Amino acid sequence: MRIEVENDRIRERKKQEYQDLVDEMDQKGFEANLEKISIKTANLFGIVLFILVSAITYPIYYLVNGKIDPALIFGFEGTKGMLIFFGAYLLSIFVHEFIHGFLWQFTCEKKWGSIDFGFNPKTCTPYCHCREALSFGRYFFGSIGPTLFLGIIPIILGIIFKSLFLVSFGVLGFVGGAGDLMVIFSLRKHRDSRLFDHPYEVGYAYFTAKKGD
Ligand SMILES: [Zn+2]
Repeated sequence: MRIEVENDRIRERKKQEYQDLVDEMDQKGFEANLEKISIKTANLFGIVLFILVSAITYPIYYLVNGKIDPALIFGFEGTKGMLIFFGAYLLSIFVHEFIHGFLWQFTCEKKWGSIDFGFNPKTCTPYCHCREALSFGRYFFGSIGPTLFLGIIPIILGIIFKSLFLVSFGVLGFVGGAGDLMVIFSLRKHRDSRLFDHPYEVGYAYFTAKKGD
């Protein structure tokens, strides 16, 4: 496992590592193709997802628990409540990346040895990168994890245990998975490919057998 703050040297190393993998797969008879996710579309999808998930989640909460107190939408009242909520939310951005790495390492040959965690100061975001090309199922497993554990499960628990904190936390956690959901949706086209989380583009590379080989 490597934990680092991205800089020019690390970016160069990532490019080299990616090129090495492309060369290695080329020798094995596979060619690399890119499936890029547009950040603009992902952000737009995030907004749509926020509206959609809120429009489904809060009415269900209301139906199950009988009332929604708008003052308690973040779980606790007042400014303190908002601070606690957004503190938890900020932390969850890092936990999101950790879940990707934690789930992917199970499926990697070198386990944690193939997982990189980092922080990109240019975009002010943490990231997780897996350095092994994975099968569809394994790639899917690590990609869906954060949306499941920080989105769907908190929403369900929040409804069951009457916690608006968990519900609102889950709604934002779900929205945080917008990019991952776009990746997962695009995976259906590459079920038989080896998939490699791209180290510096938003998206992944998929390896397909070279024609004529
Ligand atoms: Zn993610």
